[in-house]
Amino acid sequence: MPSKKTFWPDIETIVAAVQNGSRTASANIEQSLAQIDATKEHNAVIEVLAETARAKAAEVDLKVSKGEKVGRLAGVPFIAKDNFLTFDSDTTAASSILKGYRAPYQATAIERLEAEGAILVAKANLDSFAHGSSTENSDFGVTLHPTDKKRVPGGSSGGSGAAVALELAPFALGTDTGGSIRLPASFCGVVGLKPTYGLVSRSGVVAMASSTDVIGPLANSVDDAALILDVMSGRDGYDSTTIERDSLPYTQLDTSMKGLKVGVVKEYLADGLEPDIKAKTMQTIDRMREAGAEIIDVSMPSLPLSLACYYIIMPAEVSSNLSRYDGQRYGYSSTEAKNLTESYELSRSKGFNKEVKRRILIGTYVLSSGYYDAYYKKAAALRTMLLSEFAQAFEKVDVLVGPTAPMTAFKIGENTTDPLKMYLADIMTVAANLVGVPAISIPVGHDGNNLSIGFQIMAPQTKDRMLLSVAKNVVEGVKV
Ligand code: GLN
Repeated sequence: MPSKKTFWPDIETIVAAVQNGSRTASANIEQSLAQIDATKEHNAVIEVLAETARAKAAEVDLKVSKGEKVGRLAGVPFIAKDNFLTFDSDTTAASSILKGYRAPYQATAIERLEAEGAILVAKANLDSFAHGSSTENSDFGVTLHPTDKKRVPGGSSGGSGAAVALELAPFALGTDTGGSIRLPASFCGVVGLKPTYGLVSRSGVVAMASSTDVIGPLANSVDDAALILDVMSGRDGYDSTTIERDSLPYTQLDTSMKGLKVGVVKEYLADGLEPDIKAKTMQTIDRMREAGAEIIDVSMPSLPLSLACYYIIMPAEVSSNLSRYDGQRYGYSSTEAKNLTESYELSRSKGFNKEVKRRILIGTYVLSSGYYDAYYKKAAALRTMLLSEFAQAFEKVDVLVGPTAPMTAFKIGENTTDPLKMYLADIMTVAANLVGVPAISIPVGHDGNNLSIGFQIMAPQTKDRMLLSVAKNVVEGVKV
């Protein structure tokens, strides 16, 4: 179970208290703002929306006092990664090129949460444009791990992970292109859900790699994550890749693991895994067996290649998506340029940081005519192989399990000089993005340094409700 929270009970309880008038929405917002203030040195958030949050809370409280109906998330404060377009704040994606940028519309996910009465209190720090695994690539400075300030919170949704662990709000939104919800959830000891690709609209979210970008919650419990998914999910006219949601609520979870077929992914338990992580993973699997699940070994031979595949497909899409930041239409524009070409060059070379540039360069390279066949086409073929290996695995098992990451939270600076080492943090998360399946990271204990260990569960596409059910059963059965 995630460690007991002092301030925030589960979201349903928070909402019930607001609805019955026993605690005001305003009190929740003040609680959140005070906690943001008290944990400032962690740099989890980069902008606080104190005044608008207070005004919205007052509106909820007024409605309650008049006996009017309020939403399913009435008076619940939340935090969004700063790559979600939001009113009343900048949207920077933690990049200098977007400092001061005000969005003309809001992300669909934000709109849907607000329509149910949730209140945005702050924007969370991230690796610039969500490129990273540690939040060290932010142009707003690194976010510090919630319990060990010498370490990273994971990334790229590190601000969101730290925000939930530090109790700034009961939940936060993140984006997951190759693991960026699950990795910080694992490092910070919270629940992180990456839904099926297309289940939550990407409209109004700064694009990284459009074919793998997914939006999801970081929360204290599986039930809270399920509730947030239930509110955000479903078709959206502004995003043609969105899919139909489940007809049943995502909050309606099954309580039994009897007969569940659990595939243990052999490739994720290979040598090199930290012993504490391996031990906790095996213990968790044992508990699933004791609870009535059938444990089946699964091997997916192409899985070890998924990281290489991701680090070709993703930069290819990044190089295309980031071409819109040209210094002309929005964001930073160099004042020293003497002509248009120079303006592009100077704005982009000053506005983007090193990691963002690295990805644009790699992406442009793998898409260039001489190298397209050698790199991009091969990666695309490998992606198809992965899809078929996942499909075959899911003919035999209901869910696939393993650790979320091969390590726990590492020290600040430990991996910054070697990008390849940093990319290894994603080795267990990227496959789910490449094949579009839902995946969740849940906390299952700590290592010898008292750092959180995450357990990953993956399910077939659109089986998000089943994934959440299994996760809930595991969380409840595991003592940490
Ligand atoms: N860490 C991965 C990367 O740097 C994943 C990023 C993400 O999911 N946004 O690409």
